[in-house]
Amino acid sequence: PAVTNHMPTAELQALDAAHHIHPFSTQSNFEKEGARVIKRGEGVWLFDSEGEKILDAMAGLWCVNVGYGREELVEVATRQMRELPFYNTFFKTTHVPAIALATKLAELAPGNLNHVFFASGGSDANDTNIRVVRHYWNMKGKPEKTIIISRKNGYHGSTMGSASLGGMSGMHAQGGLPIPDIHHINQPDWWAEGGQLTPEEFGLARARELEQAIDELGENRVAAFIAEPIQGAGGVIIPPSTYWPEIKRICAEREILLIADEVICGFGRTGNWFGNQTVGVQPDIMTIAKGMSSGYQPIGGSILSDEIANTLGKDEFNHGYTYSGHPVASAVALENLRIIEEEKLIDHVRDTAGPYMRKKWEELTDHPLVGEAKIVGLMGSIALTPDKSSRAAFAAGAGTAGLICRERCFANNLVMRHVGDRMIISPPLVIQPDEIDVLAERAHRALDETY
Ligand code: PLP
Repeated sequence: PAVTNHMPTAELQALDAAHHIHPFSTQSNFEKEGARVIKRGEGVWLFDSEGEKILDAMAGLWCVNVGYGREELVEVATRQMRELPFYNTFFKTTHVPAIALATKLAELAPGNLNHVFFASGGSDANDTNIRVVRHYWNMKGKPEKTIIISRKNGYHGSTMGSASLGGMSGMHAQGGLPIPDIHHINQPDWWAEGGQLTPEEFGLARARELEQAIDELGENRVAAFIAEPIQGAGGVIIPPSTYWPEIKRICAEREILLIADEVICGFGRTGNWFGNQTVGVQPDIMTIAKGMSSGYQPIGGSILSDEIANTLGKDEFNHGYTYSGHPVASAVALENLRIIEEEKLIDHVRDTAGPYMRKKWEELTDHPLVGEAKIVGLMGSIALTPDKSSRAAFAAGAGTAGLICRERCFANNLVMRHVGDRMIISPPLVIQPDEIDVLAERAHRALDETY
């Protein structure tokens, strides 16, 4: 059958269940209950095939930073498609969109991060990083430095390499992960794992696991540490204030590279251009994607320091993707960055939307189910608990309360995600106070309906 926009929802759902395999889903469930068909977006709002208006408090997958329905981006894409829809940058050729975007990113990126290797998203950018850091040390005459340390519950993508960097046990259980020479340490989740320690003591203890790992594995074998400034898909784990300064000390004293995975934290999400600026560390490499184009085109990349790029530049780097620096994606990303700058969206996050969202978010702790409520910029989480004072987890089926709450949110036309029993938000950066009121009111209603 010809699938059209006007087909009844049930028919679309049936074809979807029959032919379209969804990421991170139990496919057979779609036969029982079809996926919600999203048709259109405007600002922070989505419209489904039944005409429902849904508040997207996840900005798609943490990416639609400038909001839906941006005509400027449509126009730039159309113009670029007419002029040059594709050309590669492999064999002594280049083009203006890739040059312009790389130049702009070098201007925005902190410190000596001045060189961009483009990818199509965050996963393949992190695969690039694995090869970059190992090859870098090889070029420096230290080929034994191959181990990359990352964190449990971190998410760095779905390819073999990036999912190995990630510390998601459910992913490692399928398909033969992790690849060799990846080592995971614990995440700084004080609420779930802090026990009797204060958050500050716990932050220090978790940071020092990096030093212990380097000691155990051997400094001469460790190439890099990769982490998100604030862990996103792991549950929006905002580390205690002591965590990053200690990581910074360890990285400065040991000969290992720091990779900041900015795929979620970058491009304004935390109230600065990049999350590493919010937590106060200077990485050697940044992974970027998502908010880089606000999801209007698939694009990602690795921004390398002068030292790394200059070292790699001495040799042929046998690595690249057909769509590295894709002209349409690059042109759209550049226009997206222009919008973020021109509309002062980072100031909006820091001074207006962020503080108001924090107020409404923290008010949710009045609800009997909500333990802590944490937020940085426009990236927040609440921990659901049956007992706030002991920070207890739900006894039966960890994650069940979160799952129920997420479904109640969805039924109330609010997209929030759950990670176990944490509910998380990451709305478009353009969200306005009256929309934040709607978000908080629907979240409260969903919590009431959870148990
Ligand atoms: N890194 C982080 C921190 C992410 O959150 C994600 C995606 O959610 C990725 C990498 C992978 O990016 P992509 O899905 O674009 O491959």
